[in-house]
Amino acid sequence: MSDVTGTRDPAAPAARDGLGAHRAAVAQLRSAYAAIPPGSPVRLAKRTSNLFRFGGGQPSAGLDVSAFGRVLRVDPAARAAVAGGMTTYEDLADATLRHGLMPLVVPQLKTITLGGAVTGLGIESSSLRSGMPHESVTEMEILTGDGRVVTAADGNEHHALYRGFPNSYGTLGYALSLTIELEPVLPFVHLRHFRYENPDACMEAIAQIAQNGSLSGHRADFVDAAAFSLGEMYLTVGAFSEVAPWVSDYTRERIYYQSVRGPKEDFLTIRDYLWRWDTDWFWCSRAFGVQNPVIRRAWPRRYRRSARVDARRGRPARENVIQDVEIPVERGAEFLRFFADRVGMSPVWMCPLRLRGERTWPLYPLRAGQVYVNFGFWGTVALPPGAADGHYNRQIEDQVTALGGHKGLYSTSFYSEEQFSARYNGPEYAKLKREYDGDGRLASLYEKCVRGK
Ligand SMILES: Cc1cc2nc3c(=O)[nH]c(=O)nc-3n(C[C@H](O)[C@H](O)[C@H](O)COP(=O)(O)OP(=O)(O)OC[C@H]3O[C@@H](n4cnc5c(N)ncnc54)[C@H](O)[C@@H]3O)c2cc1C
Repeated sequence: MSDVTGTRDPAAPAARDGLGAHRAAVAQLRSAYAAIPPGSPVRLAKRTSNLFRFGGGQPSAGLDVSAFGRVLRVDPAARAAVAGGMTTYEDLADATLRHGLMPLVVPQLKTITLGGAVTGLGIESSSLRSGMPHESVTEMEILTGDGRVVTAADGNEHHALYRGFPNSYGTLGYALSLTIELEPVLPFVHLRHFRYENPDACMEAIAQIAQNGSLSGHRADFVDAAAFSLGEMYLTVGAFSEVAPWVSDYTRERIYYQSVRGPKEDFLTIRDYLWRWDTDWFWCSRAFGVQNPVIRRAWPRRYRRSARVDARRGRPARENVIQDVEIPVERGAEFLRFFADRVGMSPVWMCPLRLRGERTWPLYPLRAGQVYVNFGFWGTVALPPGAADGHYNRQIEDQVTALGGHKGLYSTSFYSEEQFSARYNGPEYAKLKREYDGDGRLASLYEKCVRGK
């Protein structure tokens, strides 16, 4: 890993110590990896996860990566940071906000890690301006499946790995540290909530923001939206602000997602804005009865984000429909209608995005210049009599393809190997797999994301 170059930093000696400890941890991890017998499956032993694939996996050797969960350096002059691959976004954002800076895209759940968001594709309301988290990574130190530690960056000998790492889900290697760009923030975010009563109008407004960078004169530093039904959707446009006449707090009794229904204007501190969805995990805590403020306060932290609650209740006649999909904005209204008609779950989170520049990422082939809308829906739906698991998810997969979209892979997938290869650039993946994990010590992307190994 090369350091971020920058001018004098009062924390430099501490940072050097941090880097020294990091190097020692890398050496130790390499040895631990080499000691795992060939043929034994490998997995990360991580404290947190936001993965939604249950069961199916073989018991496997857990690689202790706890030493890679720290911010190693923030360089305000260069507007860059170096952080361990398992650093949570909560820690990363806190370290950078101290300098009046933030990562260009901060996924909404505090426990998502930098490495997880880069290999598993994160998104947030800055994604229309700044694309996805991997696009502001300038360099990654990766423990590859074949046991090497390499530095991958655009233009160096490992540039193919750098480009192919996003959407590889730890099947080519593990990111041990990443260097990322940062951007300056202001202390507050000024929100305006715009109501739409049909999907076409909402998608047109998104397309207009993509073109102008604002809506009705309100600058769009951040944009996302929630659809409660086809007749009730809210587009929230946020602008950095130096001042705030008041600030709202959604970490206690008040619930953020309900607030978008009115009043039309709001202010949050930048930190509270970044985590506005975290407390209630969007609206998913509702399913577990924790939107009653009294219960919510008493609810043990570890259950707030846990799907185990649902699993324990055992609802055999329901299917998990937990997905994020990207659809070109021109086809977004069609998707919403399809979803309301065939699946019928609400609310649906909507977040526009566009690649930052001309660079493309082979394992998740979004087109440069195209505006997409990410639709996120997380819950369970009753199966019709006689229908098997996959009934809804397969329809969604087909519709996403028909509309020229893509589906994220953090949850369940039902594609055949041929379909999967066609959608996620199988030939390029096979090349990378041969180059960086020739003996197949790590599961393949298909095994991991579809078979759940
Ligand atoms: C309900 C729900 C809503 C979501 N909503 C959003 C959203 O709105 N915005 C958003 O950005 N994302 C969202 N996600 C997706 C989330 O960002 C991805 O699942 C991400 O990969 C989770 O990262 P994690 O750090 O928790 O990784 P984990 O869940 O621990 O791991 C995810 C995968 O990445 C691999 N991995 C983890 N760390 C590394 C590493 N350092 N190097 C290589 N591979 C690694 C693991 O092996 C695993 O395959 C959502 C997920 C869920 C379940």
